[in-house]
Amino acid sequence: MSPDVAPCEDCLAELFDPGDRRHRYPFINCTNCGPRFTIVRGVPYDRARTTMSAFEMCSACRAEYEDPANRRFHAQPNACPKCGPTMRLIVCGEHDSTTQGEGTPAGEDALAGAVAALIAGRIVAVKGLGGYHLACRADNERAVAELRARKRREEKPFALMAADLVAAGALVDLTPAERRLMGGPERPIVIARRHPGAHVAEAVAPGSPDLGVMLPSTPLHHLLLADAGATLVMTSGNASDEPIAYCDEEALARLGAIADAVLMHDRPIEVRVDDSIVRSRGACSERPMMLRRSRGYAPRSLALPLQAPPMLACGAELKSTFCVASGSRAWVSHHIGDLRNWETLRAFREGIDHFQALFAVAPEVVAHDLHPDYLSTGYALAREGVELVRVQHHHAHLAAVLAEHGERGRAIGAIYDGSGLGGDGTVWGGELLLGDLAHAERVGHLFPVRLPGGDAAVREPWRMACAWLVAAFDGEAPLPASMRGRVDRERWEQVAEMARRGTSSPSTSSVGRLFDAVAALCGIRTVVRDEGRAAIELEAVATCAPASERDAYPLPVIEEELLQLDTRETVRAVVDDLAAGVCPAVVSARFHNGLADATAHALSLLARREGVRTAVLSGGVFQNRLLLERCAAMLAETGLRVLIPCELPPNDGAISYGQAAVAAAQLRT
Ligand SMILES: [Zn+2]
Ligand SMILES: [Zn+2]
Ligand SMILES: [Zn+2]
Repeated sequence: MSPDVAPCEDCLAELFDPGDRRHRYPFINCTNCGPRFTIVRGVPYDRARTTMSAFEMCSACRAEYEDPANRRFHAQPNACPKCGPTMRLIVCGEHDSTTQGEGTPAGEDALAGAVAALIAGRIVAVKGLGGYHLACRADNERAVAELRARKRREEKPFALMAADLVAAGALVDLTPAERRLMGGPERPIVIARRHPGAHVAEAVAPGSPDLGVMLPSTPLHHLLLADAGATLVMTSGNASDEPIAYCDEEALARLGAIADAVLMHDRPIEVRVDDSIVRSRGACSERPMMLRRSRGYAPRSLALPLQAPPMLACGAELKSTFCVASGSRAWVSHHIGDLRNWETLRAFREGIDHFQALFAVAPEVVAHDLHPDYLSTGYALAREGVELVRVQHHHAHLAAVLAEHGERGRAIGAIYDGSGLGGDGTVWGGELLLGDLAHAERVGHLFPVRLPGGDAAVREPWRMACAWLVAAFDGEAPLPASMRGRVDRERWEQVAEMARRGTSSPSTSSVGRLFDAVAALCGIRTVVRDEGRAAIELEAVATCAPASERDAYPLPVIEEELLQLDTRETVRAVVDDLAAGVCPAVVSARFHNGLADATAHALSLLARREGVRTAVLSGGVFQNRLLLERCAAMLAETGLRVLIPCELPPNDGAISYGQAAVAAAQLRT
């Protein structure tokens, strides 16, 4: 079972050849390209078990399909304008959703209508491979701002779709590796440095030095881009916080209020699959960093460095994936998302059934997180007749990196993320672990502080600023000048009191929350919608600092029973600099440098002490390129072999695979 593949050169040539019988046919494909994973209902893979089953091939298509010498020999989704799927354009508000587009523009008229609407600055929902996108002209200020407003104050940058690499090159600066990646068959969104002359509306990616750009992933997108003659915003077809719409009725119902028109077609999508997102690693590595592994990559298998019994690993809760494994192969699911959303949880359950059938894995073992409240844990506990294996969250992060590099020996790792339940029952997130696939031991951590109000502190980074000031200044935490006017003084005092007393404030060693605190102190973000947004913006700000800014804030590494990264001194330095009028860009750069230096120092110290030669950097915080680059470079200088996530993201998208590796290793010993 293969991932979906972008149109090949041969199909593209036919698509734009007026003499070809599939000239401008948006569903052209062959054995080398086309939809796969998103249309498959069962195994073995043949047309009857895909969402193409309702379309009967015409004699011309049938002849190609049966001819071993033809490029379309046994191409299951083979189709042409005579026998295959067609497009329709629904103008929102003009038709009720029950008509399913009867009497509305079809085929070329549908496409022409969508293109005209886009050119005129309207918002069009477009059915893609794994779900709907919302599209509008990227250079139209009003259209993009309107889209952002209708998506309910969406904060995330919008992805762009450019016609080709030339058009993409006018938007972002691309290295040769990034160009190969962007033009590759997986067609991920590539996040790269924004070109100074990029002609895009302000609301596409406010305040970001980067843009996310992809090339067309289907023939339909190729036609759309060619006809519109402009770069389009191509963002996920959902309102903020919802999963992407992929069923037609649902799309009309949910996107009808956001889009002015819906360009749909009658080839159903079997599995909702989001766009994949990758980011260049700059000087650190030729290979990009995977941020979301989904369309184009899933369900390609990954190797496991040891034999696993038939197994399911349930992953984490946010940015969740699951994984089925057997023998030396593991199939990590596409990005499932936040399981606390009911619709997403349903997709998680159904996805597991689907994968078990596709890859013929009947799990005897089910691995899950320690966290009893994760919905993925709940699912695991409800499975009957299986052996359960509990895997600590940060150990799973470590094991995922070890396993993808085929490493079975011991390593020392810095695992920095937002949160995960620790072996001691507290919230971890800044962990130095020593271990291998089977076992890991906590040998160090970030100085723990209070998380005032629990989850509220995740949404309100100013609370973390408050908690860190309480920790750094022995309980004295007046509202700093840099945050005045952005936080209510009375609420600040209440939260400071919570942090001092520990009321409703669990203890956490989370590095993600430390980033939140510094971002809030710098006045960048006091409130966020998505976890991690403040950290992303803090990193973005640092890129505005002069490249020569090599200064680093002090961050003592205290050797006790467990090593402790005492960031209280760092926070004091941040406060001093801000009070002295140092700009946030420089503060952010010095903060990044200080944390990278201390992390590298602590890891090399531990590596020497424990006699290990391999270091691992992972966890969602290491999506931060600045931190990762400096940290990896310093570690390499000490002679350590540095392993970083490549095939899978540093974030919780890798947890399921890590759990599978741990469970497989534990069952062997
Ligand atoms: Zn092809
Ligand atoms: Zn046909
Ligand atoms: Zn994590």
